Amino acid sequence: MLQYLTVPVTPFQQNCSIVWCDATKDAAIIDPGGDIDTLLAEVQHLGVRLKAIWLTHAHIDHAGATGELAEQLQLPIIGPHPADQFWIDALPQQSAMFGFPPARPFAPTRWLHDGDTVQIGNETLNVRHCPGHTPGHVVFHAPQIDRAFVGDVLFAGSIGRTDFPQGNHQQLIDSITQRLWPMGDQTVFIPGHGPESSFGRERRSNPYVQGT
Ligand SMILES: [Zn+2]
Ligand SMILES: [Zn+2]
Repeated sequence: MLQYLTVPVTPFQQNCSIVWCDATKDAAIIDPGGDIDTLLAEVQHLGVRLKAIWLTHAHIDHAGATGELAEQLQLPIIGPHPADQFWIDALPQQSAMFGFPPARPFAPTRWLHDGDTVQIGNETLNVRHCPGHTPGHVVFHAPQIDRAFVGDVLFAGSIGRTDFPQGNHQQLIDSITQRLWPMGDQTVFIPGHGPESSFGRERRSNPYVQGT
């Protein structure tokens, strides 16, 4: 069984998720944007062993603590897609602009591509490339529990911003309709910010993607 706990971090209340395999207690951390002490306290409280960092995209609120955490615990960094390299390179400017602690630079151990899988303990998640908010944005789908960790692609009642460099509104809509919706209306998603919802609910009521 795959389990997860979502912990909002940074002044942007970014939903960092700790996901773990019940059988082995191996855990991965999705989008450690900051607040390492809070995250490690949760990990300890859960009694799980952190094995990897998984990144949806390289915005500061999602990736800001990656370099420090990886070095501290000797963790591999998995993701995002290589098209986000320029956002990783820009982490120092991103931290200065938004008043975050200086982000330590890092190089992903493994880049992710559409159709890849990631493994934690006995559990496998599917990777979909969902560009639009950033060009290298990926999402993690756990069909065994009908959950998807979608970063800043889709929110309850909204969608990701596309006014950043290399953002693209039509590409984002295509990512949502062609790569998220096929996971099924019943799929509950954990967005990068705000409350969970389901794809079915968004297709019915989200003004940006209603009826798609
Ligand atoms: Zn973002
Ligand atoms: Zn975000």
